[in-house]
Amino acid sequence: SQLAEGLTRGVEGLGDRVSGALFEPVVRLGVTGLARAGKTVFITSLVANLMDRGRMPGLFAASEGRIAAAFLQPQPDDTLPRFDFEHHLAALTAPEPHWPESTRAVSELRLSLRVRPTGLLAGVTGPRTVHLDIVDYPGEWLLDLALMDKSYEVWSAEVLARIEKRPEAGAYLAALGGVDPAAPLQEPVAQGLAQGFTAYLHAARDAGFYDCTPGRFLLPGDLAGSPVVTFAPLPEGPAGPRKSLRAEMARRYEAYKRDVVRPFFRDHFSRIDRQVVLVDALDAIHKGPQAVEDMRRAMADILGTFRPGKNAFLTRLLIGKRVEKILFAATKADHLHHNQHPQLTAIMAALMREARDRADFAGAETEAMAIAALRATIEEQLKHEGRDLDCVRGRLLDSGKQAVLYPGALPDDPGVLLSASRSGATGWLDGEYNVMRFAPARLNLRPGEGPPHIRLDRAAEFLIGDRL
Ligand code: GDP
Repeated sequence: SQLAEGLTRGVEGLGDRVSGALFEPVVRLGVTGLARAGKTVFITSLVANLMDRGRMPGLFAASEGRIAAAFLQPQPDDTLPRFDFEHHLAALTAPEPHWPESTRAVSELRLSLRVRPTGLLAGVTGPRTVHLDIVDYPGEWLLDLALMDKSYEVWSAEVLARIEKRPEAGAYLAALGGVDPAAPLQEPVAQGLAQGFTAYLHAARDAGFYDCTPGRFLLPGDLAGSPVVTFAPLPEGPAGPRKSLRAEMARRYEAYKRDVVRPFFRDHFSRIDRQVVLVDALDAIHKGPQAVEDMRRAMADILGTFRPGKNAFLTRLLIGKRVEKILFAATKADHLHHNQHPQLTAIMAALMREARDRADFAGAETEAMAIAALRATIEEQLKHEGRDLDCVRGRLLDSGKQAVLYPGALPDDPGVLLSASRSGATGWLDGEYNVMRFAPARLNLRPGEGPPHIRLDRAAEFLIGDRL
């Protein structure tokens, strides 16, 4: 009841006061998603909108006027790069706005909120401080968890079976034909294979495949060129002598797990309380049924990483800890007229239900939504062959010209799309579905107003509303 809730919050509030600054609650919010899913834009717009709350009616603490102040503070982790909020916001709000640089590694930002309590004690206790620590990291790194319980031999066999028929892998598979894994290691051979495999991963990702691990091959950061990212899968065969190509590849694979994957999960992932997973669902839909099928599998894999007990390595790491809420958000919903948002939400919800089933996931509260962190379009109706079409208008990224987009109609029943992707169909929606890339719109923000968005306030309410 409201009374009980008021009391609980009041008591929490008292607790905060009693122990003063020593007890200021911290919420660690993980933001992830594959490259270009929209993490950088999401964090930038979320923080800007939490600082200027004029557009956050769906975040109840904001609409109730209980957030007295929101300000950036030095983050708790001194060795992590800071999320470059000011720079990214400047890009989006410039007179000639442009999209900021995308996420390439893990970074962090602390936003502190002064919040007035609700309920009975509202008039008695003063505002308390809640710290929101936002941790941005590539989703590719998350998928690396699957490597932790796998030997090099098993990993190699699985990867080679999976990519056998993919045209993107043709060059790499051909290169494999020319090497003898049992021969003594020659560094240029190892490098050539690693480069070939990395080129395959890039091509596969661009084609819409999500199973593109090891994640650091795509985003190596300061590991570029080091031995931990200079290995590749080799076909089955005898182990070979200790100094063989195969033995060295296996050794580097183990080093990758031990020195790259493990520290990430131990130092960052294991400390997350709430998680948002951003998904460029429209892009996958645009690419076709295979990309949606792959996205569906990736969502299950990602949920699997949050499932305690699934992975022996992670279970040891997460003793007594678990992420409490996970939001799967389809980004860039401003590519659709709002009439189609329910369809996009329904597709995300159906994908998430399936991912939950597949990953046999229970525990954290999950939700699916369609959002746009930064709205780059306005809605418009066009007459076409006697029909009214619900379109969006924006400035094209490539030419800078204004364009009106009719992306095609998403089916009312998400099952239509999902069963087409499951059946391995090669095209759908009469080939009608289209995406354009828009530039960010010029903004004319009034004081107190954050950048325009779609349902970012609802996303924030789900993720942190209960802690405010
Ligand atoms: P990251 O790699 O996950 O950090 O992705 P970014 O946040 O850099 O976003 C990648 C690209 O997606 C941007 O450069 C934009 O072109 C586009 N994008 C991201 N968010 C939005 C959005 O809310 N609306 C629109 N129209 N485009 C977006």
